[in-house]
Amino acid sequence: MPAVKIADRFSSLQPSSMIKIFQAAAAVEDLSNLSIGEPDFHTEPEIVNAAAKAALEGCTHYPPLQGFEDLRKEICAYWKRHHGLETEPESILLTVGGLQAAHLCFQAMLNPGDEVVIAEPCFTAYFQQVENNGGVVVPVPSREENGFFPTAEDFEKAVTPRTKILVINSPCNPTGGVLTREQAGGIADVAKRHDLFVLSDEIYEAFIYAGKHVPLASLPGMKERTMTVGGFSKSHCMTGWRIGYAMAPAELLKVMITLSVSQTYGVNTLAQKGAAFALATQDEKVKARTAEYEKRVRYCAGRLNTMPGVTCPEPRGAFYLFPDISGTGRNDEEFAWWLLEKAKVAVIPGTAFGASGAGHVRIACTLGMDDLKKAMDRMEEALSR
Ligand code: PMP
Repeated sequence: MPAVKIADRFSSLQPSSMIKIFQAAAAVEDLSNLSIGEPDFHTEPEIVNAAAKAALEGCTHYPPLQGFEDLRKEICAYWKRHHGLETEPESILLTVGGLQAAHLCFQAMLNPGDEVVIAEPCFTAYFQQVENNGGVVVPVPSREENGFFPTAEDFEKAVTPRTKILVINSPCNPTGGVLTREQAGGIADVAKRHDLFVLSDEIYEAFIYAGKHVPLASLPGMKERTMTVGGFSKSHCMTGWRIGYAMAPAELLKVMITLSVSQTYGVNTLAQKGAAFALATQDEKVKARTAEYEKRVRYCAGRLNTMPGVTCPEPRGAFYLFPDISGTGRNDEEFAWWLLEKAKVAVIPGTAFGASGAGHVRIACTLGMDDLKKAMDRMEEALSR
């Protein structure tokens, strides 16, 4: 008998099709890589210096479990300043990336068989997190004509007596969709009518090119039933620092904090010091990067719309495009592998984000303009051949 006996529930665990593309792309020389969901910019040097200074001053001990209070105050000020959301430091928990915030929420709330309604296509880490914590994923397909979100009625139809949590992500990975106030209000009404909790992943809140970001928790009657996932990975180019946060009702945070004791025992102190400095000083730089991403997504959407068999709606948020490639005669898996082989351009098949991503691919505009132009030229050439 082997000594390593993997748990039955993980016996069929497989790497996602996204990981397979990443691995194949890594072996391609002179690759145009449009598959990476993280900023191409390094962390600003002054943020690095702030963290280094804290280290040299002896900020090297276990952190407070909930996170440093000065950082939690900065997070409150940031959301008030940018999005008009009123919250308080007691309602914030620093986590190891936004990922851990979501994981702790599912862990704290789900009983076996509880259902979690998730707008799809989506960041599929949620599927695993829900399932690993005994929950059942109920995907609700988005509608392209509805800005790549399900309608409130779609959500309503998916709700059963077992539904406990509704998950929404705006601006959205992978579609770049941004909820309008009206759409957000409709989803909030469903949550209130059915007494659901909402996990609102707003990690791309800084990158909006159409309309305004509407925090779900800012809508009437929603703060007490919403956990907002926020972070520094995207807005402040700090993916490697592994820091994010939850903004949630205190009674939920209390359980999440207790669970985190046996997992991470708080968040890296230096990442917290860097993050606090970032929130206090970087608004202009975030704005400049947002303008750069907007330029990129608009350019690529324009180019994609001239390619045979491809249509791309107007970009609204995040740094992603989710063009429909069904007119090329290939499905999204075939298209992504074909494009990698023929054009040396890496994109992610839409179905890597759930079955309803079929017929689309995700394009991450996380390359500079010259490299994006080269990638678009390559794609156009391959498609015109
Ligand atoms: N939510 C979404 C929608 C994401 O795309 C990502 C990262 N790709 C995360 C959460 C996790 O971010 P973090 O680095 O803060 O864990």
